[in-house]
Amino acid sequence: MIISGKTKICAIIGDPVGHTVSPAMHNAAFQKLGLDYLYITFRVAPEQLSRAVVGLKALNVAGFNVTIPHKVAIIPLLDSLDPLAEKIGAVNTVVNINGKLKGYNTDAEGFYRVLLEHGFSPQGKKVVLLGAGGAARAIAYILVEQGCRLTILNRLQELDWAENIAQFILDDLQKEVQFFELGDIAEALPGADLLVNATSVGMSPEDNVSPVPAPLLKKIPLVFDIVYNPLKTRFLREAAAAGAQIITGIDMLAWQGALAFEKWTGKAAPVDLMRREAVKILERHED
Ligand code: NAP
Repeated sequence: MIISGKTKICAIIGDPVGHTVSPAMHNAAFQKLGLDYLYITFRVAPEQLSRAVVGLKALNVAGFNVTIPHKVAIIPLLDSLDPLAEKIGAVNTVVNINGKLKGYNTDAEGFYRVLLEHGFSPQGKKVVLLGAGGAARAIAYILVEQGCRLTILNRLQELDWAENIAQFILDDLQKEVQFFELGDIAEALPGADLLVNATSVGMSPEDNVSPVPAPLLKKIPLVFDIVYNPLKTRFLREAAAAGAQIITGIDMLAWQGALAFEKWTGKAAPVDLMRREAVKILERHED
């Protein structure tokens, strides 16, 4: 990669950022398409966020990703928001449009693209979603918007997060969402066409746990775990053993990156290459 006087800069801001696979995905994609762009990481502590955003704007970066813990806090620091990001209340991608910073949420659309890629048509389907955190909120919104019947399960002590998502969807889309505590999963699962894990349960280093007892995974045709480290979680291994078709979190990661890439460059992203690059890095972590 040759850095020139015209090289455009993209970045990711978060805290921490040392684990991110985004530079590998994006730099490989820039190189493949012969684009004079470079993607780098910036560790930004919460109390430095507003100064960092002013700095990125002053330096005229082409755009940047936003990760934990800044996805919500960045919103008031931007010039405008895409309607989907505004509804979800979280931003993971920022585009510099003629000196103005516009926020997007490509997690939701990335998740949805993966479902389409696997031949899942959402209209009228029953979906059970585990978790009520930031990613679950984005996923819940897009699933209901696309016509799914949704049930959200979260831990009892934080059930009001699930209730909060259900209320926001009712207000915005006029669609009812059911919510239960995770302990009631056996009652919620029968008839589900798709089961999604959007909790962080099973994420490395605590990767020998699953959010769902294995015997309950029978008869669920499609199971999606958005956790991408490890590449195949215990939850997915047990779902596959029970006969389900499975979708890994790396697919969503590649697609959310691909959609950001397209917004920064205006070019179709080489999503398969981006997925392969992400897998390479994560396999190295697993060694
Ligand atoms: P978050 O906002 O912190 O939410 C975490 C969720 O996990 C909450 O619902 C939390 O429940 C639940 N949870 C945590 N520990 C639990 C436990 N022991 N038992 C039951 N539930 C538990 O995080 P997030 O940003 O939504 O991310 C969630 C996961 O998705 C992370 O692993 C992240 O890496 C992954 N992710 C993947 C992609 C992708 O592109 N593949 C994109 C975004 C996120 P409480 O509310 O009860 O605390």
